[in-house]
Amino acid sequence: MPKTSETVLELDLNALEHNYHYLRSKLKEDTKFLAVVKAYAYGSDAVAVAKKLVPLGVDYFAVAYINEGVVLRNSGIKTPILVLHPQPINFDALIKNSLEPGLYSPKILHEFLEALKRNNQKGYPAHIKFNTGLNRLGFWENDIDYIVKQLKGRDEINIRSIFSHLAASEDFDEKSFTARQIESFMSIAKEMDAKLGYETQKHLLNTSGIINCPEAQLDMVRSGIGLYGFGNDKDIDPELKPVASLKTIISQMHKIEPNETVGYNRAFSSDGYRVTATLPLGHADGIGRQYGNGKAFVNVKGKMAPIIGNVCMDMIMIDVTGIDCKEGDEVIVFGKNPTAEIFATTANTISYELITGISQRIKRVIKGQ
Ligand SMILES: *Cc1c(COP(=O)(O)O)cnc(C)c1O
Repeated sequence: MPKTSETVLELDLNALEHNYHYLRSKLKEDTKFLAVVKAYAYGSDAVAVAKKLVPLGVDYFAVAYINEGVVLRNSGIKTPILVLHPQPINFDALIKNSLEPGLYSPKILHEFLEALKRNNQKGYPAHIKFNTGLNRLGFWENDIDYIVKQLKGRDEINIRSIFSHLAASEDFDEKSFTARQIESFMSIAKEMDAKLGYETQKHLLNTSGIINCPEAQLDMVRSGIGLYGFGNDKDIDPELKPVASLKTIISQMHKIEPNETVGYNRAFSSDGYRVTATLPLGHADGIGRQYGNGKAFVNVKGKMAPIIGNVCMDMIMIDVTGIDCKEGDEVIVFGKNPTAEIFATTANTISYELITGISQRIKRVIKGQ
């Protein structure tokens, strides 16, 4: 890649392909792979990511909301798409676009059945989500009789799969909680199949589950963050390649005298002669104020330069004293070094939040299509 001359989010789809093969290598031959492409494929480009993954043999996609699935359909993606968190207001669009809802509550199930009736649908594929301890979204185990009663004798719905989500699959201190979630899901799944009278597909694992709970692969796994290059594990991260790199350039440099201040509220105060560089991105782009005032570092010519003072809406200032650089030079905010994981950690957050938060104002530059 030539050096950038503005702020861009560079997306390396060869890295995506590498990560897909790595994650697949952890799975049994016949375990299906669902690629999670919600939130613009974790802040990248959902259409480009999906188009790269289809020929690699991905079995399913998942998005959070119905409108995200519609975008994929409009771009020509034909692969089944699970909508993890659908809202009834958009059920007609969901049906029109052959998207498959994850049904998570009595209210949602009821409203979806109504929508199917209204649209004259029969045997429509849907998925049932159970809560096994995350306590976020999902039916409870004691809802099974209610679900089965709603579905018995009706032919609108065909339950494609039942699934649940782990609360702490990356956390070794929570191994016994995770084991209880797996056990609880297995018992729910058995009871559901018995009471429904047919066998459904089952899935439970996210990326960290794939790595830490191989015994619970079941029929399919759902991976998001691993595809984008992060494994929530310092032993796995080196095996994966970050897909997104946030690159920018130095807009302007300043020589700062002792006791001068930099930025809003004069938050940085110079203790000596300093050289600063101003970069064209800010908190409106997803680099929040928590990264300012010395917390996070960016890469200038291979050297780490701290963000100084308060992060502005469209600009950040860094201290480049002693670094051989000039206006127009490239700066790497995150990518190979520092990784988004490391950058995020400086402000006590996680790679997920950092990469999904990069604003749509920043141009996506795609390689490896
Ligand atoms: C987002 C999400 C995933 C993907 O999790 P990763 O940790 O990114 O692999 C899987 N399942 C559900 C239900 C999700 O909401």
